[in-house]
Amino acid sequence: MTISFIDLKAQQEQIKPQIEAAIARVLAHGKYILGPEVSELEAQLAEFCGARFALTCASGTDALLLAAIASGIGRGDVVFVPAFSFVATAEIVALLGATPVFVDVDADTYLIDLENLEIAINETRNKGLVPRAVIPVDLFGQPPDYSRLGELAEANGLLVIADAAQSFGAQYAGKRVGTLAPITATSFYPAKPLGCYGDGGAIFTDDAETLEVMQSLRVHGQGASQYDNVRVGINGRFDTIQAAVLLQKLTIFEEEIAARRHVAEHYTEALRDAFQTPVVATESTSVWAQYTVRVEDRDRVATELKQKGIPTAIYYPKPLHRQAAYERYPTTSGGLPVSERLAGEVLSLPIHPYLSESEQDRVISAIRQTGKVNSSAASTCTS
Ligand SMILES: *Cc1c(COP(=O)(O)O)cnc(C)c1O
Repeated sequence: MTISFIDLKAQQEQIKPQIEAAIARVLAHGKYILGPEVSELEAQLAEFCGARFALTCASGTDALLLAAIASGIGRGDVVFVPAFSFVATAEIVALLGATPVFVDVDADTYLIDLENLEIAINETRNKGLVPRAVIPVDLFGQPPDYSRLGELAEANGLLVIADAAQSFGAQYAGKRVGTLAPITATSFYPAKPLGCYGDGGAIFTDDAETLEVMQSLRVHGQGASQYDNVRVGINGRFDTIQAAVLLQKLTIFEEEIAARRHVAEHYTEALRDAFQTPVVATESTSVWAQYTVRVEDRDRVATELKQKGIPTAIYYPKPLHRQAAYERYPTTSGGLPVSERLAGEVLSLPIHPYLSESEQDRVISAIRQTGKVNSSAASTCTS
């Protein structure tokens, strides 16, 4: 029996009648574009995280793009992004004609390395370029140290756009993701912790003016009416049917976060002596979008697990500064050794709220049987 890497079917079973009824209501009222479910969801998302405003949009990538356009990022600007992330983080910067500068990540948390960021800021300035913004990524579900990051950004006049595509529901210092940066972007891609049945995303802010600009940008830069265009925007709306689905999924989201945490804690307890298990910083919580260990000889381990019916995934096999489309952009001098090493060692194990205790034990015993222990295990584990 093969274990599911992510089990969306099991989740659907929990609330199938409610989802079907919610979709049926949309089919009945027929307001497929920006229908009442969309604004209802926006209100609930804002309330869930404590942000003043939430604006839904067509994807996590569009959420980042709308946030970046609304922040005025464009030609001539430098935007710092971690090299160990999904491509969208850097992509929207390059699309706007700005320059992504790749920064290394921390070897324990896999989150943007703030010392490396500071070096990159200084190097950028020394080259006569304009440091404009930083996009920290809450990789695998946990936010970075936003208090230190905020100080560093403020001291250097940098805007902060949070790429929280993997972390909606997580916290830093008791505050929810969505309230940790002036603008936060998240994704509702099906495999994310809060996923819909297609593409989707949202942006969070406390600033009414930023909200208004993003609302306009989301519908082709519209002004007072639909065929009045006051800025260059995109078609970035979220579908009403998807909002209807998410409203139902939101009702079980807290329980799902707790269930994910339970699986992660079980894994860590059972694997930490033999593998380099994920480190969650003291001030942060994670929603465990992924549970990622580091293994040398990764191909062999993945193959052996697969033979035992245990799927794994690699997020991400190549750091962004090594991607053909991004090779020409700058990195911190001295290269990005942690990102490169992680790309060769990371292996994500099955994790979802409905992974049974016995399935978890199967994963644990199978990976333990693969035997190889990472040389840096335990010694660099700080919590
Ligand atoms: C998923 C993801 C995105 C993009 O979200 P989409 O909804 O797929 O467009 C951006 N950044 C990170 C870190 C992601 O994991």
